[in-house]
Amino acid sequence: MEKRQAFLKVRFSHLLFAAFAAIVSQEKALGWSHHYLITRKYLESHYPQFSTIVVPVQQLSREVIELTPHYDPLKNGIKADAPCSNPPESMEQKGLNPDLCPRIQKLLTPGESATLSEILSTFSDEPDWGMDRDGKGGILKTLMGGAQGVKHLYYPFPFLMVPFIVFPQGEAPDRAQMFFNIAQRSFRECRIYEGARMLARAIHYVEDIAQPMHTEQTWWRFIKLASPVKGTERVTKNFHSAYEVTVMYRMFREMSGIDESMLSSAFEYAPKQIYRNIASMVRIKARTSHKLAHSLYALVWKVFPEKLRKAQKVKLTYSDVLKILRSPEINRVFEVTGKALQNIDLSFMIETSGILEALEKCK
Ligand SMILES: [Zn+2]
Repeated sequence: MEKRQAFLKVRFSHLLFAAFAAIVSQEKALGWSHHYLITRKYLESHYPQFSTIVVPVQQLSREVIELTPHYDPLKNGIKADAPCSNPPESMEQKGLNPDLCPRIQKLLTPGESATLSEILSTFSDEPDWGMDRDGKGGILKTLMGGAQGVKHLYYPFPFLMVPFIVFPQGEAPDRAQMFFNIAQRSFRECRIYEGARMLARAIHYVEDIAQPMHTEQTWWRFIKLASPVKGTERVTKNFHSAYEVTVMYRMFREMSGIDESMLSSAFEYAPKQIYRNIASMVRIKARTSHKLAHSLYALVWKVFPEKLRKAQKVKLTYSDVLKILRSPEINRVFEVTGKALQNIDLSFMIETSGILEALEKCK
């Protein structure tokens, strides 16, 4: 009897584990496919003057470089920008904005200069270029899609998740705070380029948490009973990356005037608020974001192709994306996405970073 109880106990914990152990992270735990677009659109709405302020590119201080000793922004950044510099023909025809393409080298070369808006937008993608892939993450690392996943996600309490059922998981709030603190110091010391680079990194984590799927481990319909861990993980990833790709295409199309502005106008209405600090802002935002996750999962399940439900890696083709964009219910997906994007509040960060004071003082 005792044996049987022990067996049942093990079996139950195994099942519980399996049911929720689907890792949310997509291939690279991107968060959004192009943070560049999001940051740029936000700045256009709230800080249009940043597109006219020119800043010289400078060498980062030693201390900052040593924060990520195994990472080379030039090498990784240009690689990350590759899909942009070599867009699929169809994407180009359908209106990929050409000024998004290779822009990174110039922004990293001392002696060059760039607008503040360009620096903040471009480097808000930087934490996805491999910067965060090293480091320890323990059991969380395995369950959240590697070291990068741990740093880019945050599952707020009190929602059920594996492995630490009732503790919040993920380091995104702390990462945002850390880079924000460095930015503040750089601005105080009149290193505006470095401050903007660090602020852009902090912005990345704030934006990541606004992606509802980054705040919820998985959804019950994604669970594959035949392969509860690997299979569920696979289906979750399929939908996760398909969603991000679809949002990216829609934003490109809006910027090119093909589709009406829906996602890119979300920021016009983004409310400005005051928080205790950046980490607590990210935690608060994660809860709002989490509330959108269920409806988003339900919608993508309905609107996106059934092939994504298979427990194997499935990627959308360009014609899949076009079909999705034409589907009658896609606007409901974008309505939720619009709410998610409104959850991005960069103004609190910008106002308290010291950047505005530095621009005055350090002329
Ligand atoms: Zn990310």
